[in-house]
Amino acid sequence: MSAAAPPLVGSETWLPVMEAAHYRCWCKGACGARHTVSHGHCDHIDGQHLAKYGPSRLIAAPADLSEQRFPGAALRSTALVAWCPPCYDGARRKAAREAKAESAALDVPLFDLDATA
Ligand SMILES: [Zn+2]
Ligand SMILES: [Zn+2]
Repeated sequence: MSAAAPPLVGSETWLPVMEAAHYRCWCKGACGARHTVSHGHCDHIDGQHLAKYGPSRLIAAPADLSEQRFPGAALRSTALVAWCPPCYDGARRKAAREAKAESAALDVPLFDLDATA
């Protein structure tokens, strides 16, 4: 049907997500950008030319990218939303930073193994 294969998911999954999103990036700041020019809601649309990325192909991916530790499972079980490439990258980086901060916080030993030696 379309010339270029939609990223990540097949067109039977991608198309309904894009139609629901009106082919517009859903991001309202999840990527870390405030999208002030477009009133807090990213206005990138599918096929739009983006300076750094070229023609953008919106990506169908879970809204919460921190849940994407097992991408296959997440894609099957999570509601998908439309991401433009810069927001997707930004949100993934942000989720990765937050996951790292979280695991650093959890890195405190719950009990001291040496105490029993
Ligand atoms: Zn966006
Ligand atoms: Zn964004």
